Amino acid sequence: MVYLDYNATTPLCLEAKEAMLPFLDGIYGNPSSIHSEGRRARAEVDEARDRVAAVMGVRPHEIIFTGGGTESCNLGIIGLARAHAPKGRHIITSSIEHHAVLHAFEYLKHFEGFEVEILPVERNGIVSPDRLAAMIHPDTTLVSVMHANNETGAIQPLRELSEICRDHGVLLHTDAVQTFGKIPMKPADLGVSALSISSHKFYGPKGVGALFLAAGVALSRTVHGGAQENTRRPGTENVAGIAGMAAAAEMTFSQAPLLPLREQLWDGILDACPTALRNGDAEHSLANTLNVSFPGMDGEALLIGLDLEGVCASSGSACMVGSIRPSHVLLAMGLPPATAMATVRFSLGRETTANDISHAISAVHNVAANQLLPA
Ligand code: PLP
Repeated sequence: MVYLDYNATTPLCLEAKEAMLPFLDGIYGNPSSIHSEGRRARAEVDEARDRVAAVMGVRPHEIIFTGGGTESCNLGIIGLARAHAPKGRHIITSSIEHHAVLHAFEYLKHFEGFEVEILPVERNGIVSPDRLAAMIHPDTTLVSVMHANNETGAIQPLRELSEICRDHGVLLHTDAVQTFGKIPMKPADLGVSALSISSHKFYGPKGVGALFLAAGVALSRTVHGGAQENTRRPGTENVAGIAGMAAAAEMTFSQAPLLPLREQLWDGILDACPTALRNGDAEHSLANTLNVSFPGMDGEALLIGLDLEGVCASSGSACMVGSIRPSHVLLAMGLPPATAMATVRFSLGRETTANDISHAISAVHNVAANQLLPA
């Protein structure tokens, strides 16, 4: 089996697994308990916070552990929008965000009366800083733009966006779920006030993530209960998950070897299927991500065909599996719906080899040839 769906999830690395095992077995205390068992668990959570903070170059109390990327984005966006609502109720996000962000904005619009504005992207899937500057007005309090897109890999000009936000006194949250562990991303360098990550995208366990929140920035809680995470995210901590995430966060892995493999894959696909179109800006994108449309073909059938050939790829966002709607990201980039529907995302990772790429190219060749046969 050739796995080319690393943007959907990654396998658990050995380091993360080993860090988790003691907390799945012998050490089971509740970090909030004052006895010795509880204190052992508390020590692990505290140490993990220090380690994640060190990797990001932030202070430990600026890290809030959450139950994954979706929760982290919701807490950052809803928590910031509510806390700063007395100053203004105009909030902005981009058209290519993951549903973890888009649906949080829709919730704020429909149920809490916020005025939501959507920043469009250019044909290459990248937002324009000038357009953001034109959208901000005195009532704007929050902007959320992702660091890199999960479907196309397009890297957004966050540094420029954050300068605009800073000049206007507006908070900037970024969904860095696809970049943490792939490209350098220190919140201070990006200039963001809040940033979301998810452990299972960087070889850690599923169901655990974190929100970086700059010291001194007010946040309303979105879940009510105990005093965990400094009352900002109540609920007993996922100690094993947090331990695994911290270990995975410390693993460094160069993306450089993925670039030639990705280009080899694209060249091979183009040979096998000369009508194929590459979506996004190859230069400003994650080295591991290739998004290809096969005009005139059926995207679902392509994916099933690839699976039968032993290749795991994706139609875009994994959260859209089972849905036959074209990707909102590709539509926002101006692709016609039929072309968007005929699209496959290949995402490479730590274990991808040149042999995997050759296998994937012949699989695309076979599947495309089958689709082009007259019925
Ligand atoms: N944001 C982006 C860009 C993603 O790719 C994903 C997952 O696909 C998420 C958020 C949601 O993360 P999680 O699966 O941890 O909830």
